[in-house]
Amino acid sequence: MRIVHISAECYPVAKAGGLGDVVGSLPRFQKESGHDTAVIMPMYRTPFLYKNEWEVVHKSNTNLGHWFFDYTIIRDRTSVLGFDLYLVDINGLLDREKVYGYNDDTERFCAFQIAVVHWINTWELLPDIVHVHDHHTGLIPFMMQHTYAFKRLEAIPSVLTIHNAQYQGSFGWEKTLYLPQWDSWKRGMLEWKGSINPLASGIKCAWKVTTVSHSYLDELKVSSNGLEDLFEYEKGKCSGILNGIDYKVWAPAHDPYLTEHFTIENAVKGKKNNKEILCSRFGLDPHKPLFVFIGRLVGEKGADLLPQVIIDSFEHIGRKMNFLILGSGESQTEDQLNSMKSISNNDYNVFIGYNEALSHSMYAGADFLLMPSRVEPCGLNQMYSMRYGTIPLVRKTGGLKDTVIDMGEKNGYGITFLHASVGDITHAIYRAVEVYEQKDVFRKMSKKIMDLDFSWDKSAGDYISLYNSFL
Ligand code: ADP
Repeated sequence: MRIVHISAECYPVAKAGGLGDVVGSLPRFQKESGHDTAVIMPMYRTPFLYKNEWEVVHKSNTNLGHWFFDYTIIRDRTSVLGFDLYLVDINGLLDREKVYGYNDDTERFCAFQIAVVHWINTWELLPDIVHVHDHHTGLIPFMMQHTYAFKRLEAIPSVLTIHNAQYQGSFGWEKTLYLPQWDSWKRGMLEWKGSINPLASGIKCAWKVTTVSHSYLDELKVSSNGLEDLFEYEKGKCSGILNGIDYKVWAPAHDPYLTEHFTIENAVKGKKNNKEILCSRFGLDPHKPLFVFIGRLVGEKGADLLPQVIIDSFEHIGRKMNFLILGSGESQTEDQLNSMKSISNNDYNVFIGYNEALSHSMYAGADFLLMPSRVEPCGLNQMYSMRYGTIPLVRKTGGLKDTVIDMGEKNGYGITFLHASVGDITHAIYRAVEVYEQKDVFRKMSKKIMDLDFSWDKSAGDYISLYNSFL
């Protein structure tokens, strides 16, 4: 099968979150199981670009409304990621260091999508499946089916995977000219609540829609930033496929970001060494349990609750634990977390920013990982943490609910709580400290979670079955 993934992120080329991890690993599994798999993404100016060898495979021009632009497609010569990787260069729009966060993101991703479809339209051998991810590529199914210029692509099945429905990329109708010409009665296939909504359009036009966990799909019908009715209406073509994690990248036995490697057999010693390195770097006490948070400091992740949770834990449970936070996001939360360094008694620290290496050290060196998310489509952190023997404390929502079973339940192995509230999270921390103090229970649990299987093996097969249903 000839599968083409189109995405704004793909690790290690460019990553801002879980989307990058998934698009960096799922295609490799598909390639390894014998499918001709490619990823097409923007050519940002990230370090990966300068470290690899590339060849130009296509040059052309097209237009974004009245603006005519040249685009170039380059291909990774060595297929170092295990699949064919194509980058789309558009000068003035995509040649930036960051993936998102610019005022002209609408123009950037519209132009990217138009260039990709324009290029695919020139292929002699068309793909069997076009798989798009999130709103940045959500207009592609519409363009393939409803624009005159790309009529040739109409019969290609398309799949949209939703990694996060909070972000939908909406823009006003005054920008409708950006899209190649289409019949005006198709307007409804682009619109949601008065705007052009790329995510909604993807849901309407893709042949199938997947979300990255079963529970997240159920939740979207009730709460999805305005798309609830659409998810309910389109439920017949939606399904949940849980993300896997890449065991080649996330492997405590040979993770290049770690100096102290370990397996289940020597996990106690290995984790202790990693914890000591981490604690000494951040001025923490290695004898106390170490709770970490890694992620975007946004309301979705419940990050705004962390300052009060830490204060309450110290006050009510006692200064029996350390906290270390890694993340960036809302400035108010960043400032609060930064200013709390002053209350640290060798038991609190924070690193504001994005740091891939540090995240690996934290998964390896921590005892517990906090995920008090209000919304969590799948969540990868809890799976990474378990791979590294770090017990997750998660709110029962979305993918967290599908991957973590509370220790109190049969065959349980983590700590779960119901509400994204300071009280519930602090209570979970209290339970964790109790577990930590029973050394045998704690060590057994830490080894047990390392042995769970969160690999792509099953989920990658579910995607192939979905594609096969079209063929
Ligand atoms: P998201 O909603 O952000 O995509 P996921 O749990 O799906 O959440 O994926 C988050 C990914 O991003 C994980 O690989 C996590 O380790 C990584 N990550 C998030 N924030 C940071 C950070 N500040 N530094 C390093 N890695 C981070």
